[in-house]
Amino acid sequence: MTPDDRVYAYSAVLMGSPILLKLFEHNESLASGVFRLIKHQENTFTVNRPHSDIMAINHAAGRDPVTVSPPVFELIRRAKAISCLPDSSFNFTIGPLVKRWKIGFSGHSIPAAQDLQTLLALTNPEDVILDEQTRSVFLQQAGMEIDLGAIAKGYIADVVRDYLREQQVENALINLGGNVQTLGAGADGAWAIGLKKPFSEPDTLIGVINVIGKSVVTSGIYERYFELEGHCYHHILDPKTGYPLDNELLSVTIISEDSIDGDIWTTLLYGMGVEKSLAYLKQIPHIEAIFVTRDGQIVLSSQRQFTFTPLDDSYRVTI
Ligand code: ADP
Ligand code: MG
Ligand code: MG
Repeated sequence: MTPDDRVYAYSAVLMGSPILLKLFEHNESLASGVFRLIKHQENTFTVNRPHSDIMAINHAAGRDPVTVSPPVFELIRRAKAISCLPDSSFNFTIGPLVKRWKIGFSGHSIPAAQDLQTLLALTNPEDVILDEQTRSVFLQQAGMEIDLGAIAKGYIADVVRDYLREQQVENALINLGGNVQTLGAGADGAWAIGLKKPFSEPDTLIGVINVIGKSVVTSGIYERYFELEGHCYHHILDPKTGYPLDNELLSVTIISEDSIDGDIWTTLLYGMGVEKSLAYLKQIPHIEAIFVTRDGQIVLSSQRQFTFTPLDDSYRVTI
């Protein structure tokens, strides 16, 4: 029996992405338990369907506070805190802009500058009023919309990891499409997670990241975008301008204990660019990053929690 024969892979399409679960036993009921859990979480957090806790908050914008469950309140509290950091490029009230651009969906278009100004006025995270006592969330202005797209998958990947742990699973991998969370070391002494080549076939890799019991989150501008007149409009928006963030980065990968941190930090660092991010990360040893730049560099912040094997000679690796 080769090591890989011990791995059982289960897949589903949820949250608009192919989901992959790897286990070290043939266990259909555990796999369906995991997929049920993800579906439940998706139904709570989505803004792409009419009914969810988040849509209830959005529908009541400018009108009523909405009481939510403790985990939803906690996630929103966290999203608000990060959004309100000085100069944060993460903003969970970006919803009206995301809806207007429709990047990655049919009907996408470049908004008029005037429209962007109007919508930007509806994206102040300080206008989200949280009441700990009633566990309620109130969007102060009509037209405001929460969008947890930059944090929910990370949160859900951690929920799945915790569930697997509760089920006494010691070795597993969950891939939610961009968000990978792992337990244990896989079949070969470490789990191997591919780093995709930007703007190429999904199977083309520029490197492999090896981790034991860590999360690997990648956010790339090549995942969801549209092109017009030679310009690439991708799905991570600059909360200051309302346009897609524009710098030297093609992707940011975060290696961390919790996937929610990976999800948050990919967006934060994407806004900072390489130089500033590297300086910033020196103070945060548990968050490590891999940047892929437009000029063909792969830059690693440090390598305490992972190893990296480059696979493409046309990229220069720097640490
Ligand atoms: P993905 O895993 O799909 O790459 P990210 O974690 O990078 O997603 O988050 C991108 C999604 O977050 C967008 O599709 C949008 O819904 C939302 N979003 C876009 N720009 C921002 C931003 N500046 N801050 C917070 N959320 C954002
Ligand atoms: Mg994210
Ligand atoms: Mg993500």
